[in-house]
Amino acid sequence: MPIYVEKKPDVLIGEDGTRTDGRSPLDLRPIKIEVGILERADGSALVEWGGNRVLAAVFGPREVHPKHMLLPDRALLRLRYNMAPFSTPERKRPGPDRRSVELSKVIRTALLPAVFIEKYPGSAIDVFVEILRSDAGTRVAGVTAASLALADAGIAMRGLVAGCSVGRVDDFIVVDPNHDEDMWGDVDMPMAVLFEDRKITLLQADGPLTVEQFNECLRLGMACCEMVYELQKEALRRPYVMVERRALGVA
Ligand code: UDP
Repeated sequence: MPIYVEKKPDVLIGEDGTRTDGRSPLDLRPIKIEVGILERADGSALVEWGGNRVLAAVFGPREVHPKHMLLPDRALLRLRYNMAPFSTPERKRPGPDRRSVELSKVIRTALLPAVFIEKYPGSAIDVFVEILRSDAGTRVAGVTAASLALADAGIAMRGLVAGCSVGRVDDFIVVDPNHDEDMWGDVDMPMAVLFEDRKITLLQADGPLTVEQFNECLRLGMACCEMVYELQKEALRRPYVMVERRALGVA
């Protein structure tokens, strides 16, 4: 079997700002969100975001196992981020690794301020984030999907958490970096925002930015998260809109 070797594109971003996938620096990739797609989960959501396919499932509130993990005054919020072996260009070894453990923690931390865990003492809320296809930005797609799955499960929340990455490729600040830009670009800065409190719940950056560039990334990241937030709200409302339309005799 030939070994897959990733190759850096000759040009990551053109002089006019054209990116490897044809977008301009401020274009997001297409995003499609569906909520309530898994019958056996209490809540679920599928986020299709460019080449990413991210499924989130929530089980709970339910009994805590093992019992010694039970928290008498609040819910135990557990989160597992998992990449399917077939989700990456080069087959990924199945099972947890350092990255998936870190991302499970990062996504859980991004969601925690949104969940009223004190309303569910002594119970567990388990969130599974499954990456079916990856094209960079899976953590922010994961936060976006998981927060919708929690809402779909009827878990009491302050609001939804919406995520998006921004970054720098050469001298261009770009929104929603793709795989090439994440891999070969200069900076990837994933963010997530709880808009109800206007609180940033996830912020990471993996390369150098001037203060001006950082402020620009922050401003654009907030704006992109807000666009994702609008799509989340629309996706949550959609089943109810369909019911209302049916009641009116409209297909
Ligand atoms: N990736 C991969 N194999 C891995 C981990 C990551 O091919 O074991 C790819 C995958 O496409 C992922 C991208 O690298 O989306 C960027 O990964 P990163 O760790 O920056 O996280 P993400 O941007 O997905 O949140």
